[in-house]
Amino acid sequence: MTHAHEGWTAERSAELYRVREWGAGFFGVSENGDLQVTATPDDFAGAVSIPDIIAGIQARGLDLPVLLRIENLLDTQISLLNDSFIQAMKSLDYGGAYLGAYPIKVNQQQQVVEAVTRHGRKYHHGLEAGSKAELIAAMGMHSDPGAVLVCNGYKDEEFVDLALHAVQLGFKCVLVIEMPGELPLIIERSRALGVEPILGVRAKLASQATGQWAESGGDRSIFGLNAAQIIEVIDRLKEAGMLGCLQLLHYHLGSQIPNIREIRSGVAEASRIYAGLAAEGAGMRYLDLGGGLAVDYDGTRTSLSSSRNYSVYEYCADVIEGVMTVLDEQGVPHPTIITESGRALVAYYSMLLFNVLDAARFEPEPLPDSLPEDTNVHIRHMHQTMLALTPDNVQESFNDALYYRDEVRQAFNQGTISFRERALGENVFWQTVRNIAILARDLPALPLELEGIARTLSDIYYCNFSVFQSLPDAWAIDQLFPVMPVHRLDEEPTREGSLADITCDCDGKIDRFIEGPGVNRTMRLHALRSSEEYCLGAFLVGAYQETLGDLHNLFGDTNVVTIRILEDGKYEFVGELEGDTVEDVLSYVEYDTKALLTRFRETAEQSVRKGLITPAQRREILQAYKNGLRGYTYLER
Ligand SMILES: *Cc1c(COP(=O)(O)O)cnc(C)c1O
Repeated sequence: MTHAHEGWTAERSAELYRVREWGAGFFGVSENGDLQVTATPDDFAGAVSIPDIIAGIQARGLDLPVLLRIENLLDTQISLLNDSFIQAMKSLDYGGAYLGAYPIKVNQQQQVVEAVTRHGRKYHHGLEAGSKAELIAAMGMHSDPGAVLVCNGYKDEEFVDLALHAVQLGFKCVLVIEMPGELPLIIERSRALGVEPILGVRAKLASQATGQWAESGGDRSIFGLNAAQIIEVIDRLKEAGMLGCLQLLHYHLGSQIPNIREIRSGVAEASRIYAGLAAEGAGMRYLDLGGGLAVDYDGTRTSLSSSRNYSVYEYCADVIEGVMTVLDEQGVPHPTIITESGRALVAYYSMLLFNVLDAARFEPEPLPDSLPEDTNVHIRHMHQTMLALTPDNVQESFNDALYYRDEVRQAFNQGTISFRERALGENVFWQTVRNIAILARDLPALPLELEGIARTLSDIYYCNFSVFQSLPDAWAIDQLFPVMPVHRLDEEPTREGSLADITCDCDGKIDRFIEGPGVNRTMRLHALRSSEEYCLGAFLVGAYQETLGDLHNLFGDTNVVTIRILEDGKYEFVGELEGDTVEDVLSYVEYDTKALLTRFRETAEQSVRKGLITPAQRREILQAYKNGLRGYTYLER
């Protein structure tokens, strides 16, 4: 059965939701209106339908919401970054090599780190750790002596010892000095263990980046050493006879740097410092640019904070060119370039799929042609205003309607009209506003007060997920993520709405959507059908969202399903992780669920004693309670 509306096509949905712009070639819309995903960018011959995948997930007994990971997308991004550096180095005749280091903090899940090391092996793609726990994870996952293991973050003796042990095992494990006080500890532990460390310094650059995370780089950064402190490190290492151990210069301008100019000026400054360190006699071999390679979340290819004005290849070529310009002039050999790109590698690979539970449609009740004789005078006047509405008196009518509505409210508060009458008054008001909104669509210039009207009249779609758990950056820093329906794309989306999650929190919503170069407060959606679930996806959520998420309202981890797309357009399920149960999340906040159950048993027994329920009812109630403990924290079908 097709529901295609006249004049509407799947192609128009692709344009409306800007799939091609943010999708990086991975996402497309099929003619029958399904959102598709492909493992081979821009080639949809072997694409897989996302609604099909959802059906497969549900057939396996897992409920939405589901975080879906598609392994091939991660593989493709790892290859894209490495191949782009290799190609740029080749075409510019660069004398060094490239080594990636995936920063574990961007998505620490074992599956993700495993996938990075597995596919990254052929490029010697390594890992970056910013804490002891991450280093311990990295040492357990990492087995490639050709790859680097970069240790950033503040270090204690245990951290330093672990890194030195990694060097003993033959790993290129670099201890990056972030604070002046770390050096004496590192020198002491190296001597005690008899290990020659591989050292790096993290520089604070003067170059500033704009965008959301700008303050992690630059002079005001809390991380890294300034020029004087770096010179002090050099002098101390010289004294200790260890200057040869200093092999790496690290900096990090911040994540999601949208403007290539800022990346270039960072590289230029860092290359100068690198040359300075080499001139001081340090054993320089590596230049580590940190992260910052951005993701074009809104698909605008601009320097807006949710975008980037460069391609991955341009990034690589500009970095290499920038390094060569400075170092060739100074006669310094080309270093191995390291980047710690995280966001750009993992963002594409995960999407959150969720169902809509209900929609609050804003529809005033139809009004009778004439109101009863005894209707309150203000309501009658408002009704007349509504009937007399024309394109020429829109503003005036709006003002009048507002005035009469206030009068009606006042009359209600003073007890002169009934609750039922007040409801009639509000209905007339909203009907008037709705008629104004319809007329306003065709007006050339909209009076300021009227601009918000359309939004007031938009629907709210209640969705089965928690913004706080699954899209924390959408809440905390207003980050934009592409959101769209995953099916019915051959039908015109006739509704206009925003999304609310199921936490009881007025911040639990998405009301900033990608549309054109700007941001819209509502998005186009399809009317719900009783016969069919309506499913949406939030895309590019692989970076930072999973462990920053919290347990607001005790909604826990969602189910996670991983698939791999095969050559012939088929796909296989390669992993599933059940989300948290109610019992799990209660234990996270220190409840003893056994004790809870014991107490609840007693409560139920007392109710039996009081004769409120029968023993058989008690059994049923206890069963429901136990099932609840074992159940999913989201709404189940
Ligand atoms: C967060 C971080 C990264 C990752 O940055 P992306 O922009 O996600 O690539 C890399 N290096 C350091 C030191 C970081 O703190």
